Amino acid sequence: MEIELRRVIDALPGVVWTALPDGNVDFVNQFWCDHTGFSPERSRGRGWLAAFAPEDLTDLRERWRSILASGQAGEMKARLRRSDGWYRWSIVRARPLTGEAGRIVKWCGTIHEIEEDVTEDISVQRAQADVELRRSEARKTAILDSALDCIVTMDHEGRITEFNPAAERTFGFSREQVLGRPLAEVIIPPHQREAHWQGLARYLATEEPHVLGRRVEMTALRADGTEFPVELAITRIPLEGPPSFTGYLRDVTGRRQAEDELRRSEALLAEAQRLSLTGSFYWRVASDDVTLSEQTYRTYGFQPGEPVTLEMIGARTHPQDVRLLREMIAEARGPGSDLDYEYRLMLPDGTVKHLHLVARGSHGTNGELEYIGAVQDVTQRRLSEEALGQAQSELAHVTRATTLGALTASIAHEVNQPLSGILTNASTCLKMLASEPPNLEGARETARRTIRDGQRASEVVGRLRALFANKGTATEAIDLNDAAREVIALSSGEMQRGRVLLRTELAEDLPHVTGDRVQLQQVMLNLLRNALDAMSEVHDRPRELLIRTGREEGDRVRLSVRDAGEGLQAEGMDRLFDVFYTTKRGGMGVGLAVSRSIVESHRGRLWAEPNDGPGATFSFSIPALSAQTDARVGSPPGGTTA
Ligand code: ADP
Repeated sequence: MEIELRRVIDALPGVVWTALPDGNVDFVNQFWCDHTGFSPERSRGRGWLAAFAPEDLTDLRERWRSILASGQAGEMKARLRRSDGWYRWSIVRARPLTGEAGRIVKWCGTIHEIEEDVTEDISVQRAQADVELRRSEARKTAILDSALDCIVTMDHEGRITEFNPAAERTFGFSREQVLGRPLAEVIIPPHQREAHWQGLARYLATEEPHVLGRRVEMTALRADGTEFPVELAITRIPLEGPPSFTGYLRDVTGRRQAEDELRRSEALLAEAQRLSLTGSFYWRVASDDVTLSEQTYRTYGFQPGEPVTLEMIGARTHPQDVRLLREMIAEARGPGSDLDYEYRLMLPDGTVKHLHLVARGSHGTNGELEYIGAVQDVTQRRLSEEALGQAQSELAHVTRATTLGALTASIAHEVNQPLSGILTNASTCLKMLASEPPNLEGARETARRTIRDGQRASEVVGRLRALFANKGTATEAIDLNDAAREVIALSSGEMQRGRVLLRTELAEDLPHVTGDRVQLQQVMLNLLRNALDAMSEVHDRPRELLIRTGREEGDRVRLSVRDAGEGLQAEGMDRLFDVFYTTKRGGMGVGLAVSRSIVESHRGRLWAEPNDGPGATFSFSIPALSAQTDARVGSPPGGTTA
């Protein structure tokens, strides 16, 4: 039944419409659409108003408002534009439809043409306007043609009335192609068209500017169907009569891309600063303006974005480094040099940070001195350097202590000498005193020598005691790879100085061994040092050093150090590990002996082999942890002797 009724209403030979209580049209019949050329969508709300002559719009709106306010049936008179372009005076009739309690639930109505023909009126006005327009035509054309922005003008029905050369280039349409066509269908993407019509209808109905006079960004459509971002400003053309509009459009694809690019690179920079703990800063010296990057804020523990002064920076500087900071600032204020300083911060919670600052001074465009620089948080590096130093001195200590066992012979010799001197001197002295007459002067001299020898002996003993001041040895599970890495780190400076090319082949999944980590590192250090010594005179080939770890048969783990040095001398082969065997000037000949006893105390083996090519390979192997659990690790040689 409802469908039937609907078909009847559409078939009626007159305009029928309905509107909501607020006056917004929600239905027009087919006759209206045929008569005006307006689609139902375009007519909805206040969109239907655009079908009337612009000259009558103010009256029409006024009248419609007062009918709505009265709640009574009423009439309005205005010129309606037919789809053939002719205007006819028409009567719009409206009646309220009331529901329960007399409340208005709908408005409905009709529109009838009345006989008077007013096209003449309009065409006269149009002609006058045309004359008016033609006067400025030449000027307008010149402006439109030379404009860099796209200029598109539109009448109150949303039809394009002007399309300048920049618009032709940007949108890919020729002026002739688009003149008279609805702007919405030409350059507005489909999903925004409805909003465009609504906006136009709302403006025509209320004259309230929403986008007028503002700069907005939106998406536009090219002839080839691609969409692109534009910046748009719309103004109403200040002419009498129906409102018309000028849109100034600018393709901002390039700017958007540049902005995106900038955003990306800023994000990248910030991330790099965060990861490397390196912030940047900018300092204008004359005014003491400082600008910090986000990371510098973090480093100093300032609130993000709070304005920072030199005083605030001074307050966070470690009390012991404040003088250094002052000195740095004084230097910076000088003739504009480059800065490179290390100093510490002390944050309010007591945290101490080590910073490394580098900055370059230059004179900006206005000749003012300014600095751009970077501040890196090097706390971690400083702490590990300290730890490294500690490890180095521990190793040095162990070297002394473990060497003691092997040194006993020479120490005994050193103590023995003054002792026998004392004995000889004492008996000489006795003899001198017993002679007739007693040789007092001689006795005095020999007594003096006795005292001197006694002192020498006690010095030797004192030195010995100092060397013995050793800590107990520790037994733990050790990853030889890790231990080797530490030794490499300790020696990397020395290797660099010696232009040694280090290669490592550390086996994955190497089983642990048990023992004294520091002692085993001592062995590695000895082998490494010997290898460096052996290559120090090599000039005709690369000084290659290979440190390799791996499993060995019998559940053992092996570490070898292969050098490209002078190699092993055949006659010394079986004496290499003897105490005091050395071929070096200033050599002690105890390194390998001590190393062997350390390895043996770990139930291991240490041996040397000549290489196929130049150089030698020294290796040790010790049982892996699983094979060792039932065995007791022997105490190191230093400990045994002690
Ligand atoms: P030192 O190095 O104090 O002489 P070591 O016990 O460490 O005492 O070494 C003893 C000797 O063994 C060295 O003097 C050297 O002749 C020989 N030697 C040790 N390592 C190597 C090596 N990598 N290449 C050639 N000879 C070596």
